[in-house]
Amino acid sequence: MLQKPLLEFTDKGIYCAKGNFYIDPWQPVDDAVITHAHADHAYTGHKRYLAHHLSREVLYYRLGEIQLQTVEYGEKVMKNGVEISMFPAGHVIGSAQIRVESQGQVWVVSGDYKTEDDGVCTPFEPVNCHHFISECTFGMPIYKWKPQSEIFADVNSWWRQNVAQNLATVIVGYSLGKAQRILQNLDLSIGNVYTHGVIENTNEALRRNGIVLQPTHRITQESVKEEVRKGIIIAPPSSVGTPWMRKFGPYSFGYCSGWMALRGAKRRRAADRGFVMSDHADWTGLISAIDATRCESVYLTHGSTATFSRYLRDIGFDAHEVHTLYGGEEEEAPAQSASQPSPEGEGFEEKIPVKIAMEALPPGEGLGGAAL
Ligand SMILES: [Zn+2]
Ligand SMILES: [Zn+2]
Repeated sequence: MLQKPLLEFTDKGIYCAKGNFYIDPWQPVDDAVITHAHADHAYTGHKRYLAHHLSREVLYYRLGEIQLQTVEYGEKVMKNGVEISMFPAGHVIGSAQIRVESQGQVWVVSGDYKTEDDGVCTPFEPVNCHHFISECTFGMPIYKWKPQSEIFADVNSWWRQNVAQNLATVIVGYSLGKAQRILQNLDLSIGNVYTHGVIENTNEALRRNGIVLQPTHRITQESVKEEVRKGIIIAPPSSVGTPWMRKFGPYSFGYCSGWMALRGAKRRRAADRGFVMSDHADWTGLISAIDATRCESVYLTHGSTATFSRYLRDIGFDAHEVHTLYGGEEEEAPAQSASQPSPEGEGFEEKIPVKIAMEALPPGEGLGGAAL
């Protein structure tokens, strides 16, 4: 006899009816299990939150005084007879895949993940399951990441050259994830690390959570410009092109994003250097992660879902596209280029308006409680 699916997609998020909880819901609910602290996964307004303990301080910083229970990887929590446990997703510090089990049926919600060990967060760990819910932000064969040791060798030699040419160095990356990955791989024999307030607030939250990061200097009104110009400045995408950034000129500006793999991306962000670096799995990472779960079915939540689900079906997986509101925080285009046309048709799939995205879905897979 066919068992009722343990998880289903509703207009509030991924729902477990038996356990009466949601995973990464985008509408206010009573019980929310959170994969990680990025804004498209950790919304405000839920009554109770369950997350990994390394997400604790960043969640408090971002969401205020929430009612939060935290767990370690592998620790089990029971909700109405449903077992919930978390496993490393390798995406950002504190990110977890959520494993849900009841009566022998196992589902894993991966949230966002990457398969390369970045040395900063706990490395991705494949979890056996029957049903795997996966992102596929970079689910196209053109996305193939270089090992990060090569990328950071480039970053450090670019910084060294800038110092020699009396140029300030500004490196842009998202505040939770990319910023810490950059920081931990900088060669501090070259100079000091200075941070924009948004980055430093996140660093401080992580330090309160016991994470040891390389030393940083928050940029304030009192910062001495000539000192800052000798170091490297880590700044968020929202600071690109602002007077705040311009006051450190002349500078060389590097942008870290998986989208840098696309032709024209660097120019559209007016960046001097584009570093192809992502906290999401690339094409082969996605396929190897899915394969390692030995799952029967795959559900793709955000990213290149059409291309990637077609490919997975071609190689024999039972793959489905599902509609969610994930995608768009750390994968976001910086403010400066968001309003500009993108002549090469750069594909920010996750930014397609909800209505259009839904129309593109096959019948029965849109919002409104479609069962899996
Ligand atoms: Zn994320
Ligand atoms: Zn996301």
